[in-house]
Amino acid sequence: MGLNLVLFGPPAAGKGTQAKRLVAERGLLQLSTGDMLRAACKSGTELGKKVAGIMDRGDLVSDEIVIALIEEQLDTHTDAAGFIFDGFPRTVAQAEALDAALAARDMRVNSVIRLKVDDEALVKRIIKRFEEEGRKDDNPDAFKVRLGNYNKQTAPLLPFYAKQGKLTEVDGMTDIESVALSIRHVLDRQSEIAATKKTGFFARLFGR
Ligand code: ADP
Repeated sequence: MGLNLVLFGPPAAGKGTQAKRLVAERGLLQLSTGDMLRAACKSGTELGKKVAGIMDRGDLVSDEIVIALIEEQLDTHTDAAGFIFDGFPRTVAQAEALDAALAARDMRVNSVIRLKVDDEALVKRIIKRFEEEGRKDDNPDAFKVRLGNYNKQTAPLLPFYAKQGKLTEVDGMTDIESVALSIRHVLDRQSEIAATKKTGFFARLFGR
């Protein structure tokens, strides 16, 4: 069975950076709705034209659009070892849709890792990224909107996943290497627990 991981955190928490490392280390497929939407804007597709203004302001694109993008990817990569969801889900409706989409394909979210970073550090990171990369939605006004949306619409996912017993928190304030190490520990521990459960099941089955 594959590993489906949700990387969770506010904008600029470092989700993309960590997702890319996990792709290299574990052969998982990164599904970043932000990257998909930016690609659509760049290539000037109908979808891109529709969402460009929304994204530049720092607002959320509609649930229907991002859910459709994710479902399309799930159906394209049926042989993937697992998925890392990066920047998705961002609303409770998206999280419910993801659960349903995975269940319909005999999969589920196995783990949710929250990168914890304080707001002050985020603002500093984003100012730097704006200077370096010039992403429109990294300007201070749009960033304020993004952070507001995160607190209002995305943070409620924390209790949603905590209730499912899937949530682990990782300190996102340390350097990239240390964050990667913490994530590795979480995933290793979880696969050990999963393996023990399986052994326990077979031991019971065979009366040992
Ligand atoms: P960051 O993690 O730095 O906020 P992303 O690349 O994940 O950046 O997202 C950039 C923008 O793309 C968001 O501000 C939003 O407009 C849009 N977007 C990305 N993912 C979603 C999503 N799951 N739901 C709605 N909008 C999204």
